[in-house]
Amino acid sequence: MDQRAFYVAGRPEHGTDPVTIRHPYDGHAVGETTIATPEQVERAVSAAADAAGPAQALPAHARAAALDHVSARLKERADEVAKLITAENGKPLKWSRAEVTRAVSTFRWAAEEARRFAGELQRLDTDPAATGRIAVVRRFPRGPVLGITPFNFPLNLVAHKVAPAIAAGAPIVVKPAPATPLTALLLGEILAETDLPPGMFSVLPVPNDRAAALVEDPRLPVVSFTGSGPVGATIRRAVPDKHVTLELGGNAAVLVCADWTADADLTFAAERIAMFSNYQAGQSCIAVQRVFVHEWVYDGFVPRLVAAVSALRTGDPFDEATDVGPLISEAAATRVESWVDEAVTAGATIEAGGLRAGATYPPTVLSRAPKDAKVTREEVFGPVLVVEPVTDDAAGFAAINDSAYGLQAGVFTRDLRTAFTAHRTLDVGGVIVGDVPSYRADQMPYGGVKGSGVGREGLRSAMDDYTEPRVMVLTGL
Ligand code: NAD
Repeated sequence: MDQRAFYVAGRPEHGTDPVTIRHPYDGHAVGETTIATPEQVERAVSAAADAAGPAQALPAHARAAALDHVSARLKERADEVAKLITAENGKPLKWSRAEVTRAVSTFRWAAEEARRFAGELQRLDTDPAATGRIAVVRRFPRGPVLGITPFNFPLNLVAHKVAPAIAAGAPIVVKPAPATPLTALLLGEILAETDLPPGMFSVLPVPNDRAAALVEDPRLPVVSFTGSGPVGATIRRAVPDKHVTLELGGNAAVLVCADWTADADLTFAAERIAMFSNYQAGQSCIAVQRVFVHEWVYDGFVPRLVAAVSALRTGDPFDEATDVGPLISEAAATRVESWVDEAVTAGATIEAGGLRAGATYPPTVLSRAPKDAKVTREEVFGPVLVVEPVTDDAAGFAAINDSAYGLQAGVFTRDLRTAFTAHRTLDVGGVIVGDVPSYRADQMPYGGVKGSGVGREGLRSAMDDYTEPRVMVLTGL
Protein backbone atom coordinates (compact mmCIF):
# COMPACT_ATOMS: atom_id res chain seq x y z
CA MET A 1 0.00 0.00 0.00
CA ASP A 2 1.34 3.44 -0.96
CA GLN A 3 2.22 5.74 1.89
CA ARG A 4 0.52 9.09 1.46
CA ALA A 5 2.89 12.02 2.00
CA PHE A 6 2.13 14.92 4.31
CA TYR A 7 3.11 18.50 3.49
CA VAL A 8 5.82 20.54 5.20
CA ALA A 9 5.95 24.11 3.90
CA GLY A 10 4.21 23.04 0.70
CA ARG A 11 6.46 20.03 -0.09
CA PRO A 12 5.61 16.33 0.27
CA GLU A 13 7.52 14.50 2.99
CA HIS A 14 7.31 11.29 4.99
CA GLY A 15 7.85 10.84 8.72
CA THR A 16 9.14 7.89 10.65
CA ASP A 17 6.13 6.22 12.32
CA PRO A 18 3.66 4.66 9.87
CA VAL A 19 -0.06 4.73 10.59
CA THR A 20 -2.70 2.60 8.89
CA ILE A 21 -6.15 4.07 8.30
CA ARG A 22 -9.02 1.58 8.42
CA HIS A 23 -12.51 1.57 6.91
CA PRO A 24 -15.00 1.99 9.78
CA TYR A 25 -17.52 -0.40 8.18
CA ASP A 26 -15.37 -3.55 8.11
CA GLY A 27 -11.94 -2.56 9.42
CA HIS A 28 -9.99 -3.22 6.22
CA ALA A 29 -6.91 -1.06 5.64
CA VAL A 30 -7.65 1.79 3.22
CA GLY A 31 -4.44 3.77 3.36
CA GLU A 32 -1.28 4.59 5.15
CA THR A 33 0.60 7.71 6.12
CA THR A 34 3.25 8.63 8.65
CA ILE A 35 3.46 10.92 11.65
CA ALA A 36 5.40 14.17 11.25
CA THR A 37 8.51 14.27 13.45
CA PRO A 38 9.21 17.18 15.83
CA GLU A 39 11.91 18.40 13.41
CA GLN A 40 9.39 18.44 10.52
CA VAL A 41 6.81 20.22 12.67
CA GLU A 42 9.42 22.83 13.62
CA ARG A 43 10.30 23.42 9.95
CA ALA A 44 6.62 23.80 9.05
CA VAL A 45 6.00 26.36 11.80
CA SER A 46 9.11 28.42 11.15
CA ALA A 47 8.33 28.41 7.40
CA ALA A 48 4.78 29.61 8.20
CA ALA A 49 6.22 32.44 10.30
CA ASP A 50 8.66 33.37 7.51
CA ALA A 51 5.83 33.26 4.96
CA ALA A 52 3.63 35.75 6.84
CA GLY A 53 5.12 38.78 5.03
CA PRO A 54 5.11 37.29 1.49
CA ALA A 55 1.62 35.87 2.04
CA GLN A 56 0.23 39.24 3.01
CA ALA A 57 1.89 40.83 -0.01
CA LEU A 58 0.45 38.26 -2.46
CA PRO A 59 -1.73 40.08 -4.97
CA ALA A 60 -5.42 39.20 -5.03
CA HIS A 61 -5.12 37.66 -8.50
CA ALA A 62 -2.48 35.20 -7.23
CA ARG A 63 -4.52 34.19 -4.18
CA ALA A 64 -7.66 33.83 -6.32
CA ALA A 65 -5.79 31.81 -8.96
CA ALA A 66 -4.54 29.32 -6.35
CA LEU A 67 -8.05 28.96 -4.88
CA ASP A 68 -9.66 28.57 -8.30
CA HIS A 69 -7.08 25.90 -9.13
CA VAL A 70 -7.95 23.91 -5.99
CA SER A 71 -11.66 24.20 -6.78
CA ALA A 72 -11.15 23.00 -10.35
CA ARG A 73 -8.89 20.11 -9.36
CA LEU A 74 -11.30 18.92 -6.65
CA LYS A 75 -14.02 18.93 -9.27
CA GLU A 76 -11.87 16.95 -11.71
CA ARG A 77 -10.92 14.41 -9.04
CA ALA A 78 -14.36 14.42 -7.35
CA ASP A 79 -15.01 10.69 -7.71
CA GLU A 80 -11.62 9.71 -6.28
CA VAL A 81 -11.92 12.22 -3.41
CA ALA A 82 -15.45 11.08 -2.53
CA LYS A 83 -14.34 7.44 -2.42
CA LEU A 84 -11.41 8.35 -0.19
CA ILE A 85 -13.75 10.17 2.22
CA THR A 86 -16.04 7.15 2.37
CA ALA A 87 -13.08 4.81 2.77
CA GLU A 88 -11.62 6.55 5.79
CA ASN A 89 -14.74 8.08 7.36
CA GLY A 90 -17.40 5.49 6.50
CA LYS A 91 -20.06 7.99 5.43
CA PRO A 92 -22.28 6.84 2.54
CA LEU A 93 -20.89 7.66 -0.87
CA LYS A 94 -23.73 10.05 -1.70
CA TRP A 95 -22.84 12.18 1.33
CA SER A 96 -19.15 12.09 0.43
CA ARG A 97 -20.04 13.32 -3.05
CA ALA A 98 -22.07 16.13 -1.48
CA GLU A 99 -19.08 17.02 0.68
CA VAL A 100 -16.79 17.26 -2.35
CA THR A 101 -19.32 19.43 -4.18
CA ARG A 102 -19.42 21.74 -1.17
CA ALA A 103 -15.62 21.96 -1.01
CA VAL A 104 -15.48 22.80 -4.74
CA SER A 105 -17.82 25.73 -4.01
CA THR A 106 -16.01 26.69 -0.82
CA PHE A 107 -12.74 27.22 -2.71
CA ARG A 108 -14.50 28.99 -5.56
CA TRP A 109 -16.26 31.40 -3.19
CA ALA A 110 -12.96 31.94 -1.39
CA ALA A 111 -11.43 33.00 -4.71
CA GLU A 112 -14.27 35.47 -5.16
CA GLU A 113 -13.80 36.81 -1.63
CA ALA A 114 -10.05 37.16 -2.25
CA ARG A 115 -10.86 39.39 -5.22
CA ARG A 116 -13.17 41.69 -3.26
CA PHE A 117 -11.45 41.76 0.16
CA ALA A 118 -10.60 45.46 -0.01
CA GLY A 119 -11.67 47.13 3.22
CA GLU A 120 -13.84 50.22 3.42
CA LEU A 121 -13.80 53.99 3.48
CA GLN A 122 -15.47 55.73 6.37
CA ARG A 123 -16.48 59.40 6.45
CA LEU A 124 -15.26 61.10 9.57
CA ASP A 125 -16.60 64.56 8.66
CA THR A 126 -19.99 63.86 10.18
CA ASP A 127 -18.42 65.65 13.13
CA PRO A 128 -17.37 69.31 12.48
CA ALA A 129 -14.09 68.71 14.31
CA ALA A 130 -13.20 66.04 11.72
CA THR A 131 -13.86 68.13 8.62
CA GLY A 132 -11.35 67.17 5.96
CA ARG A 133 -10.67 63.73 7.42
CA ILE A 134 -11.50 60.29 6.10
CA ALA A 135 -10.73 56.80 7.44
CA VAL A 136 -9.43 53.91 5.34
CA VAL A 137 -10.18 50.64 7.16
CA ARG A 138 -8.27 47.63 5.90
CA ARG A 139 -7.85 44.20 7.45
CA PHE A 140 -4.38 42.67 7.80
CA PRO A 141 -3.64 39.04 8.74
CA ARG A 142 -3.01 38.46 12.44
CA GLY A 143 -0.32 35.96 11.41
CA PRO A 144 -0.13 32.25 10.61
CA VAL A 145 -3.21 30.18 11.46
CA LEU A 146 -3.24 26.79 13.15
CA GLY A 147 -6.26 24.79 11.89
CA ILE A 148 -7.29 21.69 13.84
CA THR A 149 -10.08 19.59 12.34
CA PRO A 150 -12.38 16.69 13.35
CA PHE A 151 -13.12 13.41 11.59
CA ASN A 152 -16.71 13.96 10.47
CA PHE A 153 -16.07 16.17 7.40
CA PRO A 154 -12.50 15.23 6.42
CA LEU A 155 -12.53 17.58 3.42
CA ASN A 156 -14.98 20.39 3.95
CA LEU A 157 -13.92 21.36 7.44
CA VAL A 158 -10.30 21.48 6.30
CA ALA A 159 -11.45 23.59 3.33
CA HIS A 160 -13.18 25.95 5.78
CA LYS A 161 -9.83 26.74 7.38
CA VAL A 162 -7.47 26.60 4.38
CA ALA A 163 -9.57 28.53 1.83
CA PRO A 164 -10.20 31.67 3.93
CA ALA A 165 -6.58 31.69 5.14
CA ILE A 166 -5.30 31.78 1.55
CA ALA A 167 -7.96 34.31 0.57
CA ALA A 168 -6.96 36.60 3.45
CA GLY A 169 -3.21 36.16 2.86
CA ALA A 170 -2.41 34.17 6.01
CA PRO A 171 -0.17 31.06 6.08
CA ILE A 172 -1.82 28.00 7.61
CA VAL A 173 -0.70 24.83 9.36
CA VAL A 174 -3.41 22.14 9.35
CA LYS A 175 -3.61 19.28 11.83
CA PRO A 176 -6.19 16.79 10.51
CA ALA A 177 -8.11 14.27 12.62
CA PRO A 178 -6.17 11.06 13.37
CA ALA A 179 -8.95 8.81 12.00
CA THR A 180 -9.29 10.67 8.69
CA PRO A 181 -6.01 12.33 7.60
CA LEU A 182 -5.89 10.94 4.04
CA THR A 183 -8.39 13.37 2.48
CA ALA A 184 -6.56 16.35 4.01
CA LEU A 185 -3.30 14.97 2.57
CA LEU A 186 -4.90 14.68 -0.87
CA LEU A 187 -5.96 18.30 -0.53
CA GLY A 188 -2.33 19.07 0.35
CA GLU A 189 -1.28 17.37 -2.89
CA ILE A 190 -3.59 19.66 -4.86
CA LEU A 191 -2.46 22.76 -2.94
CA ALA A 192 1.14 21.82 -3.77
CA GLU A 193 0.32 22.22 -7.48
CA THR A 194 -0.29 25.95 -6.97
CA ASP A 195 2.22 28.81 -7.02
CA LEU A 196 1.64 29.74 -3.40
CA PRO A 197 4.85 30.82 -1.64
CA PRO A 198 6.74 28.18 0.37
CA GLY A 199 5.49 28.08 3.94
CA MET A 200 1.99 29.18 2.96
CA PHE A 201 0.56 25.81 3.96
CA SER A 202 1.54 22.64 5.79
CA VAL A 203 -0.61 19.59 6.53
CA LEU A 204 0.77 17.63 9.46
CA PRO A 205 -0.58 14.40 10.94
CA VAL A 206 0.66 14.59 14.53
CA PRO A 207 -0.48 13.03 17.81
CA ASN A 208 -2.57 15.13 20.18
CA ASP A 209 0.29 16.04 22.52
CA ARG A 210 2.21 17.52 19.59
CA ALA A 211 -0.97 19.30 18.47
CA ALA A 212 -1.28 20.75 21.98
CA ALA A 213 2.29 22.07 21.68
CA LEU A 214 1.38 23.68 18.34
CA VAL A 215 -1.57 25.40 20.04
CA GLU A 216 0.88 27.02 22.47
CA ASP A 217 3.44 28.01 19.83
CA PRO A 218 3.56 31.83 19.76
CA ARG A 219 4.43 31.81 16.04
CA LEU A 220 0.85 30.63 15.33
CA PRO A 221 -1.20 33.51 16.82
CA VAL A 222 -4.56 32.30 15.46
CA VAL A 223 -6.04 28.94 16.44
CA SER A 224 -9.10 27.78 14.50
CA PHE A 225 -10.41 24.61 16.11
CA THR A 226 -13.33 22.43 15.08
CA GLY A 227 -14.05 19.48 17.33
CA SER A 228 -15.46 18.43 20.66
CA GLY A 229 -16.27 20.68 23.60
CA PRO A 230 -13.77 19.23 26.07
CA VAL A 231 -10.82 19.62 23.67
CA GLY A 232 -12.04 23.12 22.75
CA ALA A 233 -12.16 24.06 26.43
CA THR A 234 -8.64 22.73 26.96
CA ILE A 235 -7.39 24.86 24.07
CA ARG A 236 -9.12 27.97 25.37
CA ARG A 237 -7.61 27.50 28.82
CA ALA A 238 -4.15 26.82 27.37
CA VAL A 239 -3.95 30.03 25.32
CA PRO A 240 -6.27 32.70 26.76
CA ASP A 241 -4.29 35.46 25.04
CA LYS A 242 -4.45 33.99 21.53
CA HIS A 243 -7.15 34.63 18.97
CA VAL A 244 -9.08 31.35 19.21
CA THR A 245 -12.16 30.28 17.23
CA LEU A 246 -13.97 27.21 18.54
CA GLU A 247 -16.51 25.34 16.43
CA LEU A 248 -17.78 22.74 18.89
CA GLY A 249 -20.61 20.28 19.34
CA GLY A 250 -24.34 20.55 19.83
CA ASN A 251 -27.62 18.73 20.37
CA ALA A 252 -29.53 20.56 17.67
CA ALA A 253 -33.28 20.91 18.06
CA VAL A 254 -36.21 21.49 15.76
CA LEU A 255 -39.73 22.71 16.47
CA VAL A 256 -42.77 21.70 14.41
CA CYS A 257 -45.14 24.60 15.07
CA ALA A 258 -48.91 24.83 15.49
CA ASP A 259 -49.43 26.13 11.94
CA TRP A 260 -47.55 23.22 10.31
CA THR A 261 -50.66 21.06 9.98
CA ALA A 262 -51.18 20.01 6.35
CA ASP A 263 -50.54 16.34 5.60
CA ALA A 264 -47.91 17.17 2.99
CA ASP A 265 -46.19 19.57 5.43
CA LEU A 266 -46.03 16.96 8.18
CA THR A 267 -44.66 14.34 5.80
CA PHE A 268 -42.05 16.81 4.50
CA ALA A 269 -40.91 17.71 8.04
CA ALA A 270 -40.80 14.04 9.07
CA GLU A 271 -38.68 13.09 6.05
CA ARG A 272 -36.26 15.98 6.48
CA ILE A 273 -35.87 15.27 10.20
CA ALA A 274 -35.39 11.54 9.59
CA MET A 275 -32.72 12.20 6.95
CA PHE A 276 -30.82 14.84 8.88
CA SER A 277 -30.89 13.06 12.18
CA ASN A 278 -29.21 10.09 10.54
CA TYR A 279 -27.07 11.39 7.70
CA GLN A 280 -23.46 10.46 8.40
CA ALA A 281 -24.89 8.25 11.13
CA GLY A 282 -25.75 11.36 13.13
CA GLN A 283 -22.11 12.44 13.24
CA SER A 284 -22.68 16.06 12.38
CA CYS A 285 -22.59 18.92 14.87
CA ILE A 286 -25.97 20.06 13.49
CA ALA A 287 -27.61 16.64 13.12
CA VAL A 288 -31.19 16.77 14.45
CA GLN A 289 -31.20 15.32 17.95
CA ARG A 290 -34.17 16.89 19.76
CA VAL A 291 -37.56 17.18 18.06
CA PHE A 292 -40.30 19.25 19.68
CA VAL A 293 -43.78 19.05 18.17
CA HIS A 294 -46.83 21.18 18.95
CA GLU A 295 -49.37 18.93 20.69
CA TRP A 296 -52.03 19.68 18.05
CA VAL A 297 -49.94 17.91 15.41
CA TYR A 298 -47.92 15.46 17.55
CA ASP A 299 -50.12 12.40 17.01
CA GLY A 300 -50.19 12.90 13.25
CA PHE A 301 -46.47 13.61 13.09
CA VAL A 302 -44.88 10.77 15.08
CA PRO A 303 -46.09 7.86 12.85
CA ARG A 304 -44.77 9.77 9.82
CA LEU A 305 -41.42 10.28 11.54
CA VAL A 306 -41.19 6.61 12.52
CA ALA A 307 -42.04 5.56 8.95
CA ALA A 308 -39.44 7.91 7.48
CA VAL A 309 -36.73 6.77 9.89
CA SER A 310 -37.57 3.10 9.35
CA ALA A 311 -37.37 3.57 5.58
CA LEU A 312 -33.70 4.61 5.76
CA ARG A 313 -31.34 1.94 4.49
CA THR A 314 -28.45 1.07 6.77
CA GLY A 315 -25.40 -0.77 5.49
CA ASP A 316 -22.28 -0.68 3.35
CA PRO A 317 -21.40 2.99 2.72
CA PHE A 318 -20.04 2.14 -0.74
CA ASP A 319 -23.49 0.88 -1.76
CA GLU A 320 -25.20 3.74 -3.61
CA ALA A 321 -28.52 2.87 -1.95
CA THR A 322 -27.19 3.20 1.60
CA ASP A 323 -28.50 6.13 3.65
CA VAL A 324 -26.82 5.34 6.97
CA GLY A 325 -23.34 3.88 7.29
CA PRO A 326 -21.25 3.00 10.32
CA LEU A 327 -20.09 5.36 13.03
CA ILE A 328 -16.41 6.20 13.04
CA SER A 329 -15.61 3.20 15.29
CA GLU A 330 -17.22 0.34 17.16
CA ALA A 331 -16.39 2.17 20.40
CA ALA A 332 -18.47 5.15 19.22
CA ALA A 333 -21.41 2.87 18.36
CA THR A 334 -21.15 1.09 21.72
CA ARG A 335 -21.28 4.44 23.52
CA VAL A 336 -24.44 5.42 21.59
CA GLU A 337 -25.97 2.03 22.44
CA SER A 338 -25.26 2.54 26.14
CA TRP A 339 -26.86 6.02 26.08
CA VAL A 340 -30.02 4.59 24.47
CA ASP A 341 -30.06 1.77 27.04
CA GLU A 342 -29.74 4.32 29.84
CA ALA A 343 -32.69 6.35 28.49
CA VAL A 344 -34.85 3.23 28.09
CA THR A 345 -34.06 2.09 31.64
CA ALA A 346 -35.13 5.56 32.81
CA GLY A 347 -38.51 5.29 31.00
CA ALA A 348 -37.97 6.19 27.34
CA THR A 349 -39.90 4.31 24.65
CA ILE A 350 -38.18 3.09 21.46
CA GLU A 351 -40.46 4.11 18.56
CA ALA A 352 -37.98 2.95 15.92
CA GLY A 353 -34.62 1.24 16.25
CA GLY A 354 -32.85 -2.08 16.31
CA LEU A 355 -29.63 -3.78 17.28
CA ARG A 356 -26.06 -2.55 16.89
CA ALA A 357 -23.87 -4.51 14.45
CA GLY A 358 -20.21 -3.65 14.99
CA ALA A 359 -19.74 0.06 14.28
CA THR A 360 -23.20 0.35 12.71
CA TYR A 361 -26.04 1.57 14.90
CA PRO A 362 -29.61 1.60 13.55
CA PRO A 363 -31.53 4.89 13.19
CA THR A 364 -33.43 5.25 16.43
CA VAL A 365 -36.40 7.33 17.62
CA LEU A 366 -37.10 7.69 21.33
CA SER A 367 -40.16 9.24 22.95
CA ARG A 368 -40.68 10.03 26.64
CA ALA A 369 -36.91 10.30 27.18
CA PRO A 370 -36.21 11.92 30.56
CA LYS A 371 -34.88 15.48 30.45
CA ASP A 372 -31.70 14.51 32.25
CA ALA A 373 -30.93 11.47 30.05
CA LYS A 374 -27.68 11.72 28.09
CA VAL A 375 -29.61 11.35 24.79
CA THR A 376 -31.43 14.57 25.66
CA ARG A 377 -28.80 16.65 27.46
CA GLU A 378 -25.50 15.75 25.81
CA GLU A 379 -24.35 15.53 22.21
CA VAL A 380 -25.25 12.00 21.00
CA PHE A 381 -23.22 12.24 17.77
CA GLY A 382 -25.04 9.15 16.58
CA PRO A 383 -28.26 8.22 14.71
CA VAL A 384 -30.65 8.86 17.60
CA LEU A 385 -33.37 11.45 18.11
CA VAL A 386 -35.79 12.19 20.90
CA VAL A 387 -39.30 13.45 20.13
CA GLU A 388 -41.51 15.30 22.59
CA PRO A 389 -44.82 17.22 22.47
CA VAL A 390 -44.97 20.87 23.56
CA THR A 391 -48.07 22.82 24.57
CA ASP A 392 -47.36 25.89 22.45
CA ASP A 393 -44.67 27.48 20.31
CA ALA A 394 -43.30 29.49 23.25
CA ALA A 395 -42.83 26.26 25.20
CA GLY A 396 -41.05 24.84 22.14
CA PHE A 397 -38.62 27.76 22.03
CA ALA A 398 -37.95 27.38 25.76
CA ALA A 399 -37.31 23.65 25.27
CA ILE A 400 -34.85 24.37 22.44
CA ASN A 401 -33.03 26.87 24.67
CA ASP A 402 -32.91 24.39 27.55
CA SER A 403 -29.52 23.12 26.43
CA ALA A 404 -25.88 23.66 27.25
CA TYR A 405 -25.34 24.10 23.50
CA GLY A 406 -26.52 26.57 20.87
CA LEU A 407 -25.39 25.90 17.32
CA GLN A 408 -28.43 26.00 15.04
CA ALA A 409 -32.17 25.36 15.41
CA GLY A 410 -34.88 24.52 12.89
CA VAL A 411 -38.44 25.87 12.99
CA PHE A 412 -41.15 24.45 10.76
CA THR A 413 -43.57 27.34 10.35
CA ARG A 414 -44.98 29.57 7.63
CA ASP A 415 -46.02 32.25 10.08
CA LEU A 416 -43.68 35.24 9.70
CA ARG A 417 -44.29 36.39 13.26
CA THR A 418 -43.30 32.96 14.57
CA ALA A 419 -40.17 33.05 12.39
CA PHE A 420 -39.13 36.45 13.73
CA THR A 421 -39.94 35.42 17.30
CA ALA A 422 -37.76 32.34 16.84
CA HIS A 423 -34.93 34.44 15.44
CA ARG A 424 -35.14 36.82 18.42
CA THR A 425 -35.70 34.19 21.10
CA LEU A 426 -33.52 31.23 20.24
CA ASP A 427 -30.08 31.28 21.80
CA VAL A 428 -28.20 29.77 18.83
CA GLY A 429 -25.87 30.83 16.03
CA GLY A 430 -28.46 30.21 13.30
CA VAL A 431 -32.21 29.65 12.90
CA ILE A 432 -33.40 27.72 9.84
CA VAL A 433 -37.05 28.45 9.07
CA GLY A 434 -39.03 25.82 7.16
CA ASP A 435 -36.28 23.21 7.44
CA VAL A 436 -34.01 21.25 9.77
CA PRO A 437 -31.14 22.88 11.75
CA SER A 438 -28.69 20.81 9.71
CA TYR A 439 -28.77 23.25 6.79
CA ARG A 440 -25.49 25.04 6.18
CA ALA A 441 -24.53 27.14 3.19
CA ASP A 442 -20.76 27.44 3.20
CA GLN A 443 -20.65 31.18 2.63
CA MET A 444 -22.95 32.11 5.50
CA PRO A 445 -21.72 32.88 9.04
CA TYR A 446 -21.70 29.62 10.91
CA GLY A 447 -20.98 28.87 14.55
CA GLY A 448 -22.49 28.65 17.97
CA VAL A 449 -23.04 30.14 21.40
CA LYS A 450 -22.83 28.60 24.88
CA GLY A 451 -21.09 25.21 24.76
CA SER A 452 -21.13 25.20 20.95
CA GLY A 453 -18.25 27.58 20.60
CA VAL A 454 -16.83 31.00 20.06
CA GLY A 455 -16.62 32.91 16.76
CA ARG A 456 -17.93 32.17 13.28
CA GLU A 457 -16.76 30.34 10.19
CA GLY A 458 -18.08 30.76 6.67
CA LEU A 459 -15.71 32.32 4.21
CA ARG A 460 -16.06 36.01 4.93
CA SER A 461 -16.48 35.42 8.68
CA ALA A 462 -13.33 33.31 8.82
CA MET A 463 -11.39 35.92 6.81
CA ASP A 464 -12.48 38.56 9.31
CA ASP A 465 -11.41 36.20 12.05
CA TYR A 466 -7.93 35.65 10.62
CA THR A 467 -7.36 39.38 10.16
CA GLU A 468 -7.34 42.50 12.31
CA PRO A 469 -8.81 45.83 11.15
CA ARG A 470 -6.32 48.68 10.97
CA VAL A 471 -7.48 52.24 10.40
CA MET A 472 -5.59 54.90 8.47
CA VAL A 473 -6.93 58.43 8.92
CA LEU A 474 -6.21 60.84 6.07
CA THR A 475 -6.18 64.50 7.00
CA GLY A 476 -6.54 67.74 5.09
CA LEU A 477 -8.81 66.46 2.30
P1 NAD B 1 -12.08 15.84 18.89
O1 NAD B 1 -12.25 17.05 19.76
O2 NAD B 1 -11.83 14.55 19.54
O3 NAD B 1 -10.86 16.08 17.89
C1 NAD B 1 -10.81 17.20 17.04
C2 NAD B 1 -9.36 17.46 16.67
O4 NAD B 1 -8.64 17.90 17.83
C3 NAD B 1 -8.62 16.22 16.17
O5 NAD B 1 -7.79 16.60 15.09
C4 NAD B 1 -7.81 15.79 17.38
O6 NAD B 1 -6.69 15.04 17.06
C5 NAD B 1 -7.44 17.15 17.96
N1 NAD B 1 -7.04 17.17 19.38
C6 NAD B 1 -7.40 16.30 20.36
N2 NAD B 1 -6.83 16.66 21.53
C7 NAD B 1 -6.12 17.79 21.29
C8 NAD B 1 -5.35 18.67 22.11
N3 NAD B 1 -5.17 18.45 23.41
N4 NAD B 1 -4.78 19.76 21.54
C9 NAD B 1 -4.96 20.01 20.21
N5 NAD B 1 -5.68 19.22 19.39
C10 NAD B 1 -6.27 18.12 19.92
O7 NAD B 1 -13.36 15.80 17.93
P2 NAD B 1 -13.79 14.67 16.90
O8 NAD B 1 -14.26 13.48 17.66
O9 NAD B 1 -12.77 14.49 15.83
O10 NAD B 1 -15.04 15.40 16.20
C11 NAD B 1 -16.31 15.38 16.71
C12 NAD B 1 -16.67 16.68 17.41
O11 NAD B 1 -16.49 17.78 16.52
C13 NAD B 1 -18.13 16.71 17.80
O12 NAD B 1 -18.25 17.23 19.09
C14 NAD B 1 -18.75 17.65 16.77
O13 NAD B 1 -19.92 18.27 17.17
C15 NAD B 1 -17.65 18.63 16.56
N6 NAD B 1 -17.83 19.35 15.30
C16 NAD B 1 -18.17 20.67 15.32
C17 NAD B 1 -18.40 21.35 14.13
C18 NAD B 1 -18.75 22.80 14.10
O14 NAD B 1 -18.57 23.42 13.06
N7 NAD B 1 -19.28 23.36 15.16
C19 NAD B 1 -18.26 20.67 12.92
C20 NAD B 1 -17.92 19.33 12.95
C21 NAD B 1 -17.69 18.67 14.14
